[in-house]
Amino acid sequence: MASEYDPYENAQAVIDRAMEVGDVDPRLRDYVRYPQRETKVNLLVDMDDGTVGVFEGYRVQHSNLRGPFKGGIRYHENCTLSEVKALATWMTLKCAVVDIPFGGAKGGIRVDPRRLSVGELRRLTERYTEAIAPIIGSDRDIPAPDVNTNEQTMAWMHDAYGRATGAPTAGVVTGKPLALGGSKGRTSATGYGVVSCAALVLEKFGESLAGTTVAIQGMGNVGSNAASIFHGKGAIVVAVSDVSGGVFCETGLDVPAIVEYLDKGKRLLNGYEAPGVVHIANRELLACDARILVPAALENQINAEVARELRCAYVVEAANGPTTADADDVLEARGITLVPDIFANSGGVIVSYFEWLQNLRGVSWETGEVNELLEEFLEKSFVELWAERVRTGCCLRMAAYIVALRRLALAKEKIAHGERAGESEIREREKSAAAAR
Ligand code: GLU
Repeated sequence: MASEYDPYENAQAVIDRAMEVGDVDPRLRDYVRYPQRETKVNLLVDMDDGTVGVFEGYRVQHSNLRGPFKGGIRYHENCTLSEVKALATWMTLKCAVVDIPFGGAKGGIRVDPRRLSVGELRRLTERYTEAIAPIIGSDRDIPAPDVNTNEQTMAWMHDAYGRATGAPTAGVVTGKPLALGGSKGRTSATGYGVVSCAALVLEKFGESLAGTTVAIQGMGNVGSNAASIFHGKGAIVVAVSDVSGGVFCETGLDVPAIVEYLDKGKRLLNGYEAPGVVHIANRELLACDARILVPAALENQINAEVARELRCAYVVEAANGPTTADADDVLEARGITLVPDIFANSGGVIVSYFEWLQNLRGVSWETGEVNELLEEFLEKSFVELWAERVRTGCCLRMAAYIVALRRLALAKEKIAHGERAGESEIREREKSAAAAR
């Protein structure tokens, strides 16, 4: 049930299963169970009305086994440490599954950003950055945008980090504006990757995006970019939603008109009217008649009960953790193919990696190059996932977790191997010392 859902426990339950199905070295288990560092900070912010606001912030650095910690920062009124721990764990697995040289981290502030002025948001971001400045850095831990944060937030973080440390460096955050060393294609990257992953899976079943119906839950950065790109590729987006509810049109929504409508000021979908468009509740959107369902909002949206109501053939997880572990079982039993978050939404962090590389080298790539390389990373990773799925007969989530966990286990083994070699060397030395006696 939703009230009992704990994102961190849910993530660990899926890892347990994957360790077993994939026969992963059990010595890795605790490395993916315990985050390396969990930081909690209290942020005191001067509010516009003269009062002092107190906000709780977190940065969980889950693993840097394969490279510097990496992961976004979210601003949300329900943000908890358990949620951030789960999100950080998923980042470790996400970077491993697509084989980019990063570990996993995540940050968050418990705040409803809609209640803050731009000035208050900037000051909050500055206090947060100063508080975590000692533990982040371009070769240490690299934040990025997530739910309710964007390139503006990254511009403030980049600036505050430079001032707090006296060492401004472009690579300390990704998802920056172009003028501060951002990458072309970064803003649309997660949405772009979601659509590419959907196309890769559909192809396996002899289907294509053109003419296929899609429903999207969430019209933030990821949902709205995915909607535009699906639409551009000839898919029929029949439903979209935001916090105010959803809109549905059997013959397809006018996606460019909706995106433009939402872009203008702080408008919500409950005010959107157009011929043939009806307003629907969130639950109706999830269960609507669309071939592809794209949850692009928050965790815990598709539980076992919701999973039984779905009418789609594919679920492509644009959000992190939208489907619970028990819902996975229902979907599998019902023959609904799920494209897991750690693969489906990896486009964002892959292009973050490209941004970081461009910053290190002091170069700038064109959008075409960025998207082409992004496709290459996704295709390569998908070949591995599919092979694992065929080998074990498991679902794509299991396959993705197994590929990621094995890669982490291999990194661990390489370190342990050195240690073991050291041990045998010692034994050899002991033997020859004994022989000499
Ligand atoms: N917040 C995004 C995610 O969950 C992007 C992370 C990043 O670019 O570091 O994957």
